[in-house]
Amino acid sequence: MIQDGPETSETARDEPSSRAVVVCDHPVRAAVRGRCPRCGQGRLFDGFLKVRPACEACGLDFSTIQTGDGPATFIMQIAGFIVVFSALFVEIKFHPPMWLHLIVWLPMVAGLSLALMRPGRGLMIGLQYRNQR
Ligand SMILES: [Zn+2]
Repeated sequence: MIQDGPETSETARDEPSSRAVVVCDHPVRAAVRGRCPRCGQGRLFDGFLKVRPACEACGLDFSTIQTGDGPATFIMQIAGFIVVFSALFVEIKFHPPMWLHLIVWLPMVAGLSLALMRPGRGLMIGLQYRNQR
């Protein structure tokens, strides 16, 4: 048994090269942080949202993992819920002019969507990896 840290506890020997690979105990947590769901060490993304073809540390093939539009769908709903209900609350409570709504809420929904997109995609990849094992 190889242990590299608090998130590792076992090894996988299903690599084509038959080398021992450290396996992460929390694949979903590792993927949300942008790390490989199997080893928790290699980077998951190449750029902002592009998934690498394979893990640089353990060699896990990421090309079989397909998230589609799942993360975008959830993030649109989460960001929309937060921004729309915040805008409604501010409108009812303070009655600001419409231009103030536009300069506050439009950048906020765009920023919130961008901030949630990468962890959301990592979450979907981590869940898919965990449930396919
Ligand atoms: Zn890996």
